[in-house]
Amino acid sequence: MSLYSPSIEKLIESFEKLPSIGQKTAARLAFYILNSSEEETKEFVTSILEAKKNLKYCSKCYNISDTDPCPICGNPKRDQSTICVVEDVRDIVAMERTHEFKGVYHVLHGSISPMNGIGPEDIKIKELLSRLMDGQVKEVILATNPRVEGEATAMYISKLIKPLGVKTTRIAHGIPVGGDLEYTDEVTLMKALEGRREI
Ligand SMILES: [Zn+2]
Repeated sequence: MSLYSPSIEKLIESFEKLPSIGQKTAARLAFYILNSSEEETKEFVTSILEAKKNLKYCSKCYNISDTDPCPICGNPKRDQSTICVVEDVRDIVAMERTHEFKGVYHVLHGSISPMNGIGPEDIKIKELLSRLMDGQVKEVILATNPRVEGEATAMYISKLIKPLGVKTTRIAHGIPVGGDLEYTDEVTLMKALEGRREI
């Protein structure tokens, strides 16, 4: 039997569903909310609802954005002929922090992982290929994470792209193996981008 009243229990359960939130943290967050002012709580709830309502996928790159196309795809100063392929929306933020990349992105929303039952058709690979069909794209930079899944995904995509005659590069291995782009510092990421090699 739970020690908490049903409504607190429900709130704790909701927090527990969030990534990397354990039972203890969930309880701490729930009690934090309960001790917040009504105004603070309303602001929190509204920000969640508004984000869900306003944010959509960019129909070109699958970045999450308030607008479609996203500000990056819609920026005439960005080089549309270079596409940097990343696993996650947060990787775009990491790449943008380097101020080095002037092209556009493509978000796969995951990586191929047979262990987790994620195949090529579960991520945005065919959407990437369709962007290459008009012949405008000159280079695809594969910036998937340097993990087994990220490497496998990069290899898989490069094999599909090669026959299309588009230059395919892989970012250099300055990033620690098993690391995340998201947590890589700007200088390392910039060097990895500069040192990319054709595959
Ligand atoms: Zn976009």
